[in-house]
Amino acid sequence: MREFTASQTAARYNIDNSLPVNMHENATHTCEQLEKVRAILGNNPLIITSGWRNPALNKAVGGSASSDHATARAVDIRCPKFGTARTIARVLAASDIEFDQLILESPTLPGAWVHIGFRKGTNRRQVLTKFAGDKTYYAGVK
Ligand SMILES: [Zn+2]
Repeated sequence: MREFTASQTAARYNIDNSLPVNMHENATHTCEQLEKVRAILGNNPLIITSGWRNPALNKAVGGSASSDHATARAVDIRCPKFGTARTIARVLAASDIEFDQLILESPTLPGAWVHIGFRKGTNRRQVLTKFAGDKTYYAGVK
């Protein structure tokens, strides 16, 4: 939970990003799913570059108001000991993990990451790629 709420941007802007009680259920579900993600990625450490975002933090990072980060249902991860973000996206897309959305983000940049969101109940298993400087979301892992 500490990793899920940690944020360099929150620290920089002195934003209290602690998790409200009404988000605990979603956050617990997300973190449970992340344990499965970590197992698939060879039990290597996951780096959560963005997890829970309260409204002030979500605004500060330019996140969409409807972002699943704002409901504790999504995380941005890297796992450099396992591989690149593109490799991670391919492996997770081919796994049986129940994700709602998996987005390979900025794959041409060294800081590329994978956004993954989980819903309780029906998950769409939607796989997308989003390049830096391009607003389009492309289907699949590009
Ligand atoms: Zn994200």
